[in-house]
Amino acid sequence: MVADTRSMYTVPKLDDYSPAALDQAARELKSALESESAAIAVEAEWKLLRDRCMARKNGVLTQLNDQWLKAAPAPAKRDVGQRVNELKKIVEEQIDAALTRISSASLASRLDSEGIDVTLPGTRRKLGVEHPLIRTMNEIVSVFKAMGYSVAEGPEVETDYYNFESLNFPPNHPARDTQDTLIVAGQQNKALRERLLMRTHTSPVQIRTMERQPPPVRVIVPGKVHRADTADATHSPIFHQVEGLAVDTNITFRDLKGTLDQAAKAMFGASVRTRFYPSFFPFTEPSADMQISCFKCGGSGRLDSGRCGMCKASGWIEILGSGMVDPNVFGFVGYDARKYSGFAFGMGVERISILKYGIDDIQLFYQGDVRFLEQFA
Ligand SMILES: [Zn+2]
Repeated sequence: MVADTRSMYTVPKLDDYSPAALDQAARELKSALESESAAIAVEAEWKLLRDRCMARKNGVLTQLNDQWLKAAPAPAKRDVGQRVNELKKIVEEQIDAALTRISSASLASRLDSEGIDVTLPGTRRKLGVEHPLIRTMNEIVSVFKAMGYSVAEGPEVETDYYNFESLNFPPNHPARDTQDTLIVAGQQNKALRERLLMRTHTSPVQIRTMERQPPPVRVIVPGKVHRADTADATHSPIFHQVEGLAVDTNITFRDLKGTLDQAAKAMFGASVRTRFYPSFFPFTEPSADMQISCFKCGGSGRLDSGRCGMCKASGWIEILGSGMVDPNVFGFVGYDARKYSGFAFGMGVERISILKYGIDDIQLFYQGDVRFLEQFA
């Protein structure tokens, strides 16, 4: 707020130039300026005071000069001159003091508003969390790691040989038609087995692993696979699998069942039961799909609210494919099929996540929508 001009001091004309009268006038000027200076709170007020004191035309200092010194009778001039000089110093001091005071006040208020209070709680930085697919994949992998499996990985761009032929899908075999394959363009001049494609399953890593090492083999293979599928609520051209392979002497179907039953209990809860029924995969013989008892209705097919939607009231949910490694596959990697046997299994990570978290649209995994993803934080 700017000071009220009516209360401002003006230099009075003097009639009496006696020392006592000069003392009195000087005291009045001093105390008026002191109280004006003390009332200043902001820079705009201070500038007004400064200008009013220092202005050449009619400023307080000019008035002192004109009205006291110039007007003084000759005998008093020397005394008045000395007093006016002292008063000038006092006026300048008052102006400086006011500036210092408002500057430090504004610094203090800036420190108050801009200062850092080290006792306040910090700003919480939002950490990312594992994507639900990665989390599920890691959970599956860790179940098998705990059973002594090691992790193996392989390329997503594969040859026809690794993706099909060595897995017992002969050229023109109808089983190839069940996997809508994305073929790399411009490969027609190569022999079929060398042609490149996007792997349709993680199974080529079984072959690559067995080529690299003699039995025993126990690997778990997480990875991304590709199919020429149109994206909809249940299909995606890119999805994820976890595949497993165990090869050793004396591996039987009982080992397969025991291992996968144990894994299902680790993933879905100890009360889950498993059952196997015949299936077909070119690279396993015999082959079996595994179902688990529905973890939502406990296998009854019914909930208090009615029919169980999770298992479509059947009490069972299919979660993976498996089987004993076909001896023909061992032939491709130089394993002696009379000495060694093994089992393999594979599951879709999306499917397991959808079951575990009750997700109704596979596309949610790939859209990067934070509202969906933060539910897994
Ligand atoms: Zn159910």
